[in-house]
Amino acid sequence: MSPVAIVWPCPLPVDAYVAAGKRVEFPRPDCLSCGGPLMYWSGYWRHVRAGGRCRKIFVPRLRCAPCRVSHALLPAFVLAWRLDTAETIGAVITEVAGGACGVRPAAARAGVPHTTARGWVRRFCGRASELGIAFAALAVELGGEAIRPAAGAGRFALAAIGAAFGAAAGLPGWLAMGRWRFASSVSGGKLIAASKSSPFLVVGRRRFIPPVPP
Ligand SMILES: [Zn+2]
Repeated sequence: MSPVAIVWPCPLPVDAYVAAGKRVEFPRPDCLSCGGPLMYWSGYWRHVRAGGRCRKIFVPRLRCAPCRVSHALLPAFVLAWRLDTAETIGAVITEVAGGACGVRPAAARAGVPHTTARGWVRRFCGRASELGIAFAALAVELGGEAIRPAAGAGRFALAAIGAAFGAAAGLPGWLAMGRWRFASSVSGGKLIAASKSSPFLVVGRRRFIPPVPP
């Protein structure tokens, strides 16, 4: 019974989510395996670092009785197994993988150790061609523009995430989320996870499994 994380497109500012504590409102998606109803089961507290401060957030856990699987329901401002917010991580990745600056100045602006920031960028760049293909396909799936591979996998992935977000922003609710919460939501929080599998992209109630790179 390993818990599976579901990332929901939470529009709340981190402060508001923190302040709500256990009373935070969250959706009740269907079970990813059987489509049956998920029931509120329990929850746990985890840390998140936003604006240089560590806070505690409540993460509800939902359970599917037939599948006997519990799902942690993560808000989109976090990434799985990362302390910092998706926005913080995304800002550093945008600057460094986009070629605007090196890791140290980007880390200093974000208020995180440069070793941490370097880890994010390495992981992103290591998955960049796969992420680029997945998000470029998602952009097309959502009626957005087709992205051609840019010079450099990192830039391609950034452009593809931008294109997919641009297309998703036409759908209800996504624009206010911003591109990094969007990227966290559709990748199940695994944007820079060690996963070898292709990111599993979910937008709203649509599921989308992207092609794997050749
Ligand atoms: Zn189930």
